Amino acid sequence: MNVDISGKVIVVTGSSRGIGSELIRSFSAEKAKVVINYYNSEVQARELYDEILALNTDCLMIKANVTNPSEVSFLYHETIKAFGRVDVLINNAGICDDNLIQIMSIDQWKKVLDVNLTGAFLCSREFSKIMIKQNYGKIINIASMKGQDGCAGQVNYSASKAGLIGLTKTLAKELGQYNITVNAICPGFIVTDLNRHDESKKDIAKKKSVLRTMSSLQDLLGFIIYTSSDLFSGVSGRVFNLDSRIT
Ligand code: NAP
Repeated sequence: MNVDISGKVIVVTGSSRGIGSELIRSFSAEKAKVVINYYNSEVQARELYDEILALNTDCLMIKANVTNPSEVSFLYHETIKAFGRVDVLINNAGICDDNLIQIMSIDQWKKVLDVNLTGAFLCSREFSKIMIKQNYGKIINIASMKGQDGCAGQVNYSASKAGLIGLTKTLAKELGQYNITVNAICPGFIVTDLNRHDESKKDIAKKKSVLRTMSSLQDLLGFIIYTSSDLFSGVSGRVFNLDSRIT
């Protein structure tokens, strides 16, 4: 069996850095047409864009703040103008801004909810338009196990990811009739700018894992390539935890 995503149009929000940029590299290596979305990190997005173009792969690079409806609309229309369709939307853009609840400001709370949850809502609302017309599409939300288990010091992040899981299940119900699948993937601990300050948590998670190791970036990329392909069908509204912690 072949996992074939060649020619598919794949939009990855927040793909200037971290997991998103690695997804862009993996998808373009498989000959998909990719859209890099960035907001603050223009230099990194440009470097990635040049790297992908050098592989002779169709690629766009679009600045859009996922929390802003008109910028999300711009991201959508530029994608359609270039490629005419969208097969896969990956809601990956995410931030954290940690504090214990007594000292967490309303700004910290709102900022994280806005990017991690409202961003996914806005992008799903926009991109599902074309998916409905196509009678085909896949929405993959990058959630977190913290949205299921909670995490002290990250009430905003954990609540945003729990909300993203609710959004996933609801959109699966609304969009299933149009042959659009909506699933959530919760990565293991992948060291990026997001969590470099908190790497000790990786060892704690490792100790709780029956495999005594954490899943790697390669495990995550492989799973997302598979779920983006037509080999993965008939599954929607599900949450996939990419680890081996069994409670
Ligand atoms: P990262 O390295 O910090 O990258 C975050 C990305 O999100 C950047 O490309 C950033 O782009 C983008 N972004 C932030 N705000 C944005 C906005 N308003 N509009 C558009 N893009 C925005 O983080 P990561 O570790 O790769 O995380 C990617 C996703 O995986 C997140 O949703 C995170 O919650 C989830 N996750 C990660 C882990 C992990 O272990 N790393 C575990 C569970 C879940 P700019 O810099 O251009 O703004």
